[in-house]
Amino acid sequence: MMDRQKLTAYIKAEALRLGFDICGIAKASSAEDETAEFYNRWLEEGNHGTMGYLERNRDKRYNPTLLVEGCRSIIAVAMNYAPARHLEGIADYALGEDYHKVIKDRLFLLLASINEKVACHGRAFCDSAPVLERYWAVKAGLGWIGRNRQLIIPGKGSYFFLGELLIDIELEYNTPYTANHCGNCRKCLESCPTAALREGCFDARKCLSYLTIEYRDELPGKIGEKMGNCFYGCDRCQTHCPHNRFAAPNKIPELQPSPALLEMTESDWRILTMEKYNQLFKESAVERCGYEQLMRNIKARHG
Ligand code: SF4
Ligand code: SF4
Repeated sequence: MMDRQKLTAYIKAEALRLGFDICGIAKASSAEDETAEFYNRWLEEGNHGTMGYLERNRDKRYNPTLLVEGCRSIIAVAMNYAPARHLEGIADYALGEDYHKVIKDRLFLLLASINEKVACHGRAFCDSAPVLERYWAVKAGLGWIGRNRQLIIPGKGSYFFLGELLIDIELEYNTPYTANHCGNCRKCLESCPTAALREGCFDARKCLSYLTIEYRDELPGKIGEKMGNCFYGCDRCQTHCPHNRFAAPNKIPELQPSPALLEMTESDWRILTMEKYNQLFKESAVERCGYEQLMRNIKARHG
């Protein structure tokens, strides 16, 4: 059987071979008390709006060993989703196929690769379970959490999907990332059109990503004025981040926008039919929004 050091190196090499841009490994444990306290306070203040699922399974969220019996290691991966060109209206992460599937499919392949070397049990996650994804990415040495609340990978930026493989074997662990390279920069806070993002605080209820994707009700009165062109998500606090000047277009086939999506014009969006919606967003993360809600957003822009 491979020794632990060789197995760790093999796993990281396999992760890169499968299309991830970076892979680090953290020892599985409970999250630090201050993280749980911060999250509890954030929920108590109601910052999560109608996302009730964030309140549930907090025991598992703070202790990932409850998600996988005998969990020892958290393999944290990140995959670049920066597009070759931004598309008016839609957040960059949603231009291709649904990232949950793209990432998890590769994590299952990574688990299969590991099982070729050593028998182990594991589960793959990507924004699909109560896992503190950015926290574990930091613990696995991938980067730091910026003022925009995104994980920023040094030299690469923040246009990354995060995924985790929780497994029941010991591995060599990365040193947690302790630096923070935001410095005196406030560009993300200044660029947020709704003041959802403030120093040390993020109020999802004001965030355009939340309002356009998660919020099912009628949009608040004046929000259209703040939307600009966006109708699915908002990337302003990332596009203004100087660390994203390093962003290079991703080369993952499933994450490329379809020609039909690239051809859409402003007038096409305004008269979008259900049929066209289904054609454009089959197997896309945009399906989370639904046709009616997407049209609500499209019509609300510019007040
Ligand atoms: S996604 Fe947009 S609205 Fe939300 S915090 Fe970032 S800049 Fe503000
Ligand atoms: S815009 Fe500036 S403050 Fe905000 S995350 Fe990027 S570096 Fe940090």
